[in-house]
Amino acid sequence: MTSTTNRRQQPIQRPKGTQDIFLDKVALWHAVERTATQLLESAGYSEIRTPVFESTELFKRSVGEDTDIVNKEMYTFEKGDRSLTLRPEGTAGVVRAFIEQGLHRQPKPLKLFYSAPMFRYERPQAGRQRQFHQFGVEVFGADSPAADAEVIQLAMRLFERLGLPNLVLEINNIGDSASRQQFRESFCQLIEPVLLEFCDTCQTRFHTNPFRMLDCKNSACQEHYSEPTVARFLASEWTSEASQKHYTQVTTILDYLKIPYQRNHRLVRGLDYYNATVFEITSTHLGAQNTVCGGGRYDSLVEQLGGPSTPAVGWALGMERLVSLVEDCALPALDYYIVTDQHASALALADQLRQQGKSVEVDLTARAFGKQLATANKRHAHSAIILGEAEASSGQLQIKFLSSGQQIEQSRDDLLKSCKLPEA
Ligand code: ATP
Ligand code: MG
Repeated sequence: MTSTTNRRQQPIQRPKGTQDIFLDKVALWHAVERTATQLLESAGYSEIRTPVFESTELFKRSVGEDTDIVNKEMYTFEKGDRSLTLRPEGTAGVVRAFIEQGLHRQPKPLKLFYSAPMFRYERPQAGRQRQFHQFGVEVFGADSPAADAEVIQLAMRLFERLGLPNLVLEINNIGDSASRQQFRESFCQLIEPVLLEFCDTCQTRFHTNPFRMLDCKNSACQEHYSEPTVARFLASEWTSEASQKHYTQVTTILDYLKIPYQRNHRLVRGLDYYNATVFEITSTHLGAQNTVCGGGRYDSLVEQLGGPSTPAVGWALGMERLVSLVEDCALPALDYYIVTDQHASALALADQLRQQGKSVEVDLTARAFGKQLATANKRHAHSAIILGEAEASSGQLQIKFLSSGQQIEQSRDDLLKSCKLPEA
């Protein structure tokens, strides 16, 4: 026997910046994906699955030639005489399919979501992989501010359902393409005299895509934007009246929905196709890579890729970053936990709620309500129903939302009605 046949083979390792997801972790992924899918399907969104690779041209024409993604991060390969690229983001492929499959002929608006791996050749670090996963939504054919507000509302509600109520929503208006042209001229005039004080990347971007200078993480560069003339210019002066009106309406709806947000006049996003509303959702628990979700309006992209003019708005969230946040705070495993000393009535209510598809547990002990509520929290129930003697006789229940602590009164009948699907 030769020595080579005895030698153990070196194990092969996974490529840098990729992950294996298994056992407990994959269960967590399933739970997050299930929560997101259920929420979006309950709002009339349907899934779209597109290829993992597309023609390279698609990303050049949509994401933009002067972006980091297209310049240095794409996994591009040749097959025959074709140049193909592993998708670095989801929107371009969805828009390509929207046009190619004639989805613009579907009733408007068309509301889609996707959940898929993405590939970017970036320096791997915490929260940044070369293969990562995005969950995203796209709404086609609605130009109203309500569409922007709805996609934001769904993202924020998803985070709440996952037990992450403390994420920060930042929002900005980056105007339409005509006002962006005007921005370019006025901004360059303001910045040119001090351009040499900016970092090398900003100096390059000044000539290729000055808008992206605002995105720079370098604090010395950012200092320039706190200078009053520049700050005032960024705050409002350059966007068109129509886009300002749209933006005001979006924020008015968010106020009405009680969704808190912070205006950030320097928020631009890293992809070229956005216009009007842009937003990012961040968490202070994620370290340097703190953006969980990013999105905005992209009203010209469908036309730019050869389809009929179609307004659109959407977002994408990073699954790895989201799962790492959820890991620390277990998911709601249960819809209702009934806190009670009226067991017969509670068992009957649980029965009725379960028939409506809800998961329900009844506290079977005779402990004080405070102790029962503590168990409801430990079970990670979404809400506790308090059913004591007074509630049993009046039929008016107390419902406590355990993530916020908010408590409302609801009649037994209304609670059951709110769970029940109307008959066709
Ligand atoms: P970042 O500023 O973190 O680089 P981005 O602007 O490049 O983000 P988008 O292209 O908008 O990100 O993607 C949306 C979301 O996808 C991000 O907010 C993030 O959660 C996630 N994401 C983006 N790139 C990566 C990556 N390399 N690894 C893991 N998640 C990522
Ligand atoms: Mg990036």
